[in-house]
Amino acid sequence: MKKVSESEPEKARYFNAVENTRADIIQMTQRMSDQLPKDALAIFDVYQQLLDAASLGNEVVDKINQGWCAVSALKIVVEKYIAEFEKMDDPYIRERAVDVKDLSRRLLEHLTAKANRALAIPTSAIIIAEEVTASMLAEIPREQITGIVSFKGAENSHAAIMARALGIPAVIGVRDVPILQLDDVDIIVDGYSGKVFICPNEAILDEYRKLESEDKAFADLLKQEADEYAQTACGRRISMYINSGMGFEGDIAEQQHIEGIGLYRTEYLFMMRQRFPSEQEQQAFYQEVLGDFDGKPVIMRTLDVGGDKQLPYFPIIEENPFLGWRGIRLTLDHSEIFLVQIRAMIKANILTNNLHIMLPMVSDIGEIEEASRLIKQAHREVEKEMFDADNAARVPMPKIGVMIEVPSMIFQLDKLKGKIDFCSIGTNDLTQYLLAVDRNNDKVSGLYDAYHPTVLTAIKMIADETKKIGIPCSVCGELAGDPGGAMLLTGMGFDQLSMNTQNVLRVKWVLKKADHLVLQKLVEDVLDCTRPDQVKFRVNRTILNIGAAGILRAGN
Ligand code: PEP
Ligand code: MG
Repeated sequence: MKKVSESEPEKARYFNAVENTRADIIQMTQRMSDQLPKDALAIFDVYQQLLDAASLGNEVVDKINQGWCAVSALKIVVEKYIAEFEKMDDPYIRERAVDVKDLSRRLLEHLTAKANRALAIPTSAIIIAEEVTASMLAEIPREQITGIVSFKGAENSHAAIMARALGIPAVIGVRDVPILQLDDVDIIVDGYSGKVFICPNEAILDEYRKLESEDKAFADLLKQEADEYAQTACGRRISMYINSGMGFEGDIAEQQHIEGIGLYRTEYLFMMRQRFPSEQEQQAFYQEVLGDFDGKPVIMRTLDVGGDKQLPYFPIIEENPFLGWRGIRLTLDHSEIFLVQIRAMIKANILTNNLHIMLPMVSDIGEIEEASRLIKQAHREVEKEMFDADNAARVPMPKIGVMIEVPSMIFQLDKLKGKIDFCSIGTNDLTQYLLAVDRNNDKVSGLYDAYHPTVLTAIKMIADETKKIGIPCSVCGELAGDPGGAMLLTGMGFDQLSMNTQNVLRVKWVLKKADHLVLQKLVEDVLDCTRPDQVKFRVNRTILNIGAAGILRAGN
């Protein structure tokens, strides 16, 4: 730590370093723009915002005014920020400490003129670091990164989000790896099993070479039928929708077999920022998604935060967050947040008219009534605004639906008639609430299983009841993107499934091999089971019988 007698030159050094760092970030954003969806790129907006005077800037200048040199001032401020972030219980906010560290490393490099040193990155490199950061990934050309190993980090870390978006195998949160002995040695990163092999012997190398070529051959096989609509062996059509929210590659919307977005998680837009996005920002964002999917339905879910999803600028601290202020409960208590979001959605929908609005975490019919009232109010407000602006455009009223993810809804399905236009089952939360197992707690993760006969029985009840009352019902939880799960859901009678893009081809491939009668029989069988492992056994046996064993092999 060093004090100086003149602060002006130190401030100039600091501002210079900020400008150079901003230029680095712009360069990285440009380099990544054709490889990453827009939302993943928002990570770099966070970096730019942190550099603003209102974030780190003013505090560093204050410290320089107190006599510290630029490097010491930066260190003092950054350490304070990191300590504050790391104290937080919430993993998403804790992850922001990583951004601050990474940014300060860049600033420091510019302050000490170490920037721009050439990095000798081999082709087929595996990035290993105490903490792999988003900007580390952005600095290295995509084709040179073969794998990622990070000691720290979790599913929410930006590096993990980007690795998934880029399709790079990554193992995040590993322990006991001798980092100093890893330069220039062979390493295998198995992103499927979460294993890392250092200096693997010939036998392991051989096995992985084989798995790799099988993986590739299988992916090529799936691609051959990429354009076909999904259907069972007997020709029953299943509509494939995608889950989105992190952005998507522009060409997905154009693929004819993807029939729309079955779940757009709008909370990501809110999580990637340092403040609530304005109505105009939201409108522009939604308009782009709706425009890309023009002619295809887009189901946008209203803000679903709380539980494990937190906003850095709106922390919610609760004893039992999953039973607390989540989803619709929070937005009805803060109707101003809800109304801004709905107005933005309705305005964004004027040209395309393909918006469907879905309400998360509904546990009570009163919540649907109140939310519908607010949606109608927002619609009237937008209509008035449009007419006042001398624009006689018709403002379409979107269809309104709910997530079925809280067990109380299962027993009130008949009361939904006339109140909603559609519904979608959130199997992730439905499993957690039916089995009373926190979906994020690794101590009880062995009990969390969507193949539990109770969960499947509940889903079947929902399928039957919604059919009876004539409300279209799809499934958008992870079970829909699991090939075995998709078989069960199809057998139960669902004909609309929504899943992550990377699962679409696998699910289509399995369904095409299965006859609907076989799937119906499988459902009858599994509903008689008492344990999830018995269900899994029967599902896998059917997969083998229909000649789809390829889907069960490691890596597939
Ligand atoms: C679900 O709960 O199944 C779901 C799709 O929503 P999320 O995973 O975002 O809670
Ligand atoms: Mg949910």
